[in-house]
Amino acid sequence: MSNSGFTFRRVRDEMIENLLEMGIKDFRVLDAMSQIPRHIFLDEALWSRAYENRSLTIGYKQTISQPFIVARMTELLISHTQDRGKIFENILEIGSGCGYQSAVLSYFTNQLYAIERIKPLVIKSRKNIEFLKIKNVIFKHGDGHIDWPEDIIFDGVLGAAAPRAFPQDLLKPLKDGGKVVFPVGDDKSQTLKVVIKNKDEMKEQSYDEVSFVPMLAGTSIDGKDL
Ligand code: SAH
Repeated sequence: MSNSGFTFRRVRDEMIENLLEMGIKDFRVLDAMSQIPRHIFLDEALWSRAYENRSLTIGYKQTISQPFIVARMTELLISHTQDRGKIFENILEIGSGCGYQSAVLSYFTNQLYAIERIKPLVIKSRKNIEFLKIKNVIFKHGDGHIDWPEDIIFDGVLGAAAPRAFPQDLLKPLKDGGKVVFPVGDDKSQTLKVVIKNKDEMKEQSYDEVSFVPMLAGTSIDGKDL
């Protein structure tokens, strides 16, 4: 691992340079992503491709998101402030998969609650995050449409699976002024949306065209029902 450690450092630096070239401007995001090894979230057979800007399989017909998309969504979530460090108290992540986006978000919030509907992925993401000694992420097996932790008002919500229409209910556990970053659309066309809650109203903005797996209802114990 000692030689490969150096190799991964170099390709990780290249990934950060690519993100800059692709238009990611927020150094807080680039800094967090430069500290997180992406290969450990993948099977060893995929390590040589771990720092390319592509989504890769994590099993159960799901994928780790492209580094550019992870960076872009995080950038949108924190864009209203120039503060550094833990900007938020509580963030909710829906569709946490292998936990890579969770690791990035953990740099910006005191507590991250991450919900994933496929149980073996919840177990995998817990292992990955423990390996990195990140302590402020709670993974929960559940359906992100409804299974949010009770009694917590979130500063922001970030989703990595696309509902056909924006799920209005997601505004319920969100504080006033809080932000939801979510892909919305079907398998032909999806757009990254940012919705800001203002009392009972919402302000919606559209960003990049994206391609996420669909946000499904219910949970899966073994990932075989897909
Ligand atoms: N950012 C993740 C990407 C995972 S892909 C990563 O870095 O690994 C999207 C994930 O959303 C999948 O794991 C899928 O199982 C999950 N998902 C889909 N619908 C969901 C729902 N209703 N609730 C929770 N997770 C959901």
